[in-house]
Amino acid sequence: MTATDSSAAGPAHPLSAAEWAVLDAMHTAGDLATVGLRLGLDQAVARQMLAGIAEKLRLASLVGDRASDGAFEVPARDPCPFCENYAGRYGTHGPPAVVAEDELTFAFLTPVPLGGMPGHLLVATRRHVETIFDLTPEEEAALAYAVTAAARAVRAAFDPAGVLVQQHNGVAAFQTVPHVHFHVVPKTAGPFPPAEPARVVPFEERVRQAELIRRHWTLAGR
Ligand SMILES: [Zn+2]
Repeated sequence: MTATDSSAAGPAHPLSAAEWAVLDAMHTAGDLATVGLRLGLDQAVARQMLAGIAEKLRLASLVGDRASDGAFEVPARDPCPFCENYAGRYGTHGPPAVVAEDELTFAFLTPVPLGGMPGHLLVATRRHVETIFDLTPEEEAALAYAVTAAARAVRAAFDPAGVLVQQHNGVAAFQTVPHVHFHVVPKTAGPFPPAEPARVVPFEERVRQAELIRRHWTLAGR
């Protein structure tokens, strides 16, 4: 769970013009201070844009053009980043900010929200289950409850213009993490993912957001 399948969107993950400008400047300048000066960006902003670019490219490389033979294919990713996090082994984004959990499911904030606002949640099984076709009836029910509770909670916490729920099975359907999960994405109006660069939310900020959502999660319970 880092990590982040923040892949809700599709295989292209196109870079914005501003992101291409940062990449091009990096090629010739070679360091962030110079890139910032050339583009009139604060160095911290340039660093954050680079992190967003790296995330997009990582996701694009996972999807690639596999599954072109028409076969159902689950993305190869070993070890599974969600199971790694459950075991206390964290990737580049650090530990997950968990909002809610029960015996069968976890809900946590993705480090790279794609809805144009805070609160993009992933709701995943505790057990390593590759796709929706491999769930037990108990997991199906628990996920349905957790996804609905998550949608209510992010709506109550952030008052979004909309809440997008998305789930992917197979590379052809843009699955990038081989561990079943639903995206629950509070959204501003506009394209998905938004045109502006994705921002990596620092862990401490995610923990604060998780606490806010958790308060509403309780209220939203049946
Ligand atoms: Zn797993």
